[in-house]
Amino acid sequence: MVNKTMLARGNQSSAIRELFEYGKIRKKEIGEENVFDFSIGNPSVPCPDVINSALIDIINNYDPIGLHGYSSAIGHLSVRESVASFLNEKYNANAKADLVLITAGAAPGLASTFNGILNEGEEVIVLAPFWPEYRVFVEKAGGKIVISTPEEETFLPDFEDLSNKINEKTKAVVINSPNNPTGVIYSEEILKKLSELLNQKQKELNKTIFLVSDEPYRELNYIGIDYPFVTKYYDNSIVVYSFSKAVSLPGERIGYVLVSSTATNSKDVYNAIKGAARVLGYVCASTLFQQLIPFALGVTSDLDVYKENQEILYQGLTKLGYEVVKPQGAFYLFVKALEEDANKFSDVAKGYELLIVPSDSFGVEGYVRISYCVSKEQIINSLPIFEKLMNHYKNK
Ligand code: PLP
Repeated sequence: MVNKTMLARGNQSSAIRELFEYGKIRKKEIGEENVFDFSIGNPSVPCPDVINSALIDIINNYDPIGLHGYSSAIGHLSVRESVASFLNEKYNANAKADLVLITAGAAPGLASTFNGILNEGEEVIVLAPFWPEYRVFVEKAGGKIVISTPEEETFLPDFEDLSNKINEKTKAVVINSPNNPTGVIYSEEILKKLSELLNQKQKELNKTIFLVSDEPYRELNYIGIDYPFVTKYYDNSIVVYSFSKAVSLPGERIGYVLVSSTATNSKDVYNAIKGAARVLGYVCASTLFQQLIPFALGVTSDLDVYKENQEILYQGLTKLGYEVVKPQGAFYLFVKALEEDANKFSDVAKGYELLIVPSDSFGVEGYVRISYCVSKEQIINSLPIFEKLMNHYKNK
């Protein structure tokens, strides 16, 4: 018999992936333009020109063995150095190249981090709503997910709830800002408050509590205030970054993990994450795309396209009577379902060829996530369908 947990994971993909796969089939059946697929966070804007020209340049000018050969498991030194210098220049992050691990995107970065820091039975607090894959990674690492419920309406951390959930088993708190699925961005004030709370708990419990900051949407910011860099606020922090979203390279699988140089026993923390990456079989990230990293740092695709999509969809849905959380970043709208059970609501929407993800697996009930990194045309054409969906409930 194969491993039962893995079999279950394989047999049932995430709610996001399930809808995404359904969408592919449905588009073949009734035509691409008739399916309004808002299921997945696959950037619709092409990557910046500089990325493609740098790629061509790398292919033409690098020595053929170095081009496609293995790198060190943790990534090329020159690439890790360029990441550290970029973060120091931009955020004054005090980053060190020997605490940077180049990964095949944020997902392996998170899986390696959780497997690296967790011992059996230790707890990881996630702030709802959260990216559902945290659960899968933490559980595989022998840990337990503890959900902290957010403040109502703002979806900001509820510090009282968070404080009550921290105990001697707590190993880490995970934050994701700009947030998938709400688009909420944490301010400097929130980070300071979080850091104060965690420092106080570390003292009280006489233990290390990591702050894992998952940042694939860092540059997707529509409020003009940069999400502050966590290592400046909290010593035991670990940053997980990805080039999937703002640089539009999700299929190329490239990102990094940074252990703060101020973390207690930072080198051990780093080596444990490196060890976990080894055990999980992440030999090294794509060397071609590692070599692209120096060209991709500080560069983004045209993010104004998402801002425009967001405004059209937010205004359109609000006008139709939907309750929508006003997003500050990322490329998702979090919308109140028109019935209590978001799964049923998502099913009804599916009947109108609208593919929107129910919020349950994000740790919050009664909402749906709409991924608006799609064409403007799809957004505009979907509004009459959202109206039909609203009328379906009004006429019930
Ligand atoms: N973290 C969050 C919050 C995400 O939304 C995603 C992808 O959608 C990831 C991590 C994984 O990103 P990557 O493509 O870099 O593995």
